[in-house]
Amino acid sequence: MEYSKFLADRTKYMKASEIRELLKLAEQGNVISFAGGLPDPATFPKEKLSKIAAKVIEEQGNFALQYGPTLGVTQFRNILKQFMRRNNVKVNDNDDVIVTTGSQESLYLVSKVFVDPGDYILVEAPTYLAAINVFREFGAKFASAPIDENGMKIDILEKKAKKLLKEGAKIKLIYAIPTCQNPSGVTMNRERRKYLLELAEELDLLVIEDDPYSFFSFKPVDAEPLKTMDKNGRVIYMSTLSKILSPGMRIGWTLANSEVIKSLELAKQAIDLHTPNLTQYIAMEAIREGVIDEGIEKARKLYKEKRDIMLNALERYFPKDSSWTKPIGGLFIFAYLPEGIDTKKLLPEAVKRGVAYVPGQSFFAEGGGENTLRLNFSYPSKDLIEEGIKRLGEFFKKSLGR
Ligand SMILES: *Cc1c(COP(=O)(O)O)cnc(C)c1O
Repeated sequence: MEYSKFLADRTKYMKASEIRELLKLAEQGNVISFAGGLPDPATFPKEKLSKIAAKVIEEQGNFALQYGPTLGVTQFRNILKQFMRRNNVKVNDNDDVIVTTGSQESLYLVSKVFVDPGDYILVEAPTYLAAINVFREFGAKFASAPIDENGMKIDILEKKAKKLLKEGAKIKLIYAIPTCQNPSGVTMNRERRKYLLELAEELDLLVIEDDPYSFFSFKPVDAEPLKTMDKNGRVIYMSTLSKILSPGMRIGWTLANSEVIKSLELAKQAIDLHTPNLTQYIAMEAIREGVIDEGIEKARKLYKEKRDIMLNALERYFPKDSSWTKPIGGLFIFAYLPEGIDTKKLLPEAVKRGVAYVPGQSFFAEGGGENTLRLNFSYPSKDLIEEGIKRLGEFFKKSLGR
């Protein structure tokens, strides 16, 4: 049976990634993998969650096990608002919150509601692969600006955007991860955040702020979220409990002007009616009982240690003419090898040598980045981080003929 002839046109934007296939192999056996993006399971508050889950089902089972509203459990949405306010995210009176099945669904909803085929989205280079993939599925085109240690270079973005507009392009959105970015780990400074918002105002664009990481940065972030700095209701803010409680619970949310949230609600109805009530009730209790705040402290300490181990190992073992980011949070370090090296081509051999990473290329919406790679420090155990970076550094040196 030939199924491909039945596929809808939009399906042609979806493609299986060969890298993902290769990395699946790497997750088995003796490979030290820096490729994933998983939190350390040691941060999961298993005992407390099991008590909370039992209590929720016993005492609130009639609601927790029932259908619920598309926007999410009302009390939970209020708790999320309080949680954001406590964490410096501004919630305006005319804002609303929709609970989503992970941030991934937030990205999907925003795309479904706002993106027409051919619309341009402005992004960081590199940026979050799962976001690029969703935007692509809706036929978006991309213009990107490189990053440095202070985040996206907005002056370059401005030039590119204005050129596109002159050529008649339709630009709708800026998508940014201003704090502890994935994949690079860099944090956008205050000046550039301000500049980004001014650009959005001048060009009349919406801004998606994807913020899974600011809650557990290892050192205070020297700037407010875009959502907090925004005076014009342009910022659609999204976050998630995936990195501070559990990614398996699939709890994310979007905060934006209530008109935007209404559109997202309609879009969500057709997708999954609502995010599971049970995990919303459990997450609500976890926030109420301070389990999340404890988890945040634990994650901070553990990931900071792991980051330091990786930074030290990079210093020791990586080729001298390579460089890497020094993140103040998040789960990743991004490394730049000398020009001419192709990390995608080298990956199969690296895996044979017992170490895996994600080639940086796939994070560049407009191409490039052949000499880059993303390294995850949250999941591998402390002693394997050193060993893995050693193997990788030696392999890269050899490939460079050193
Ligand atoms: C980890 C991560 C998310 C989380 O996605 P979920 O669907 O909530 O698990 C979202 N955005 C970025 C940039 C991330 O790194």
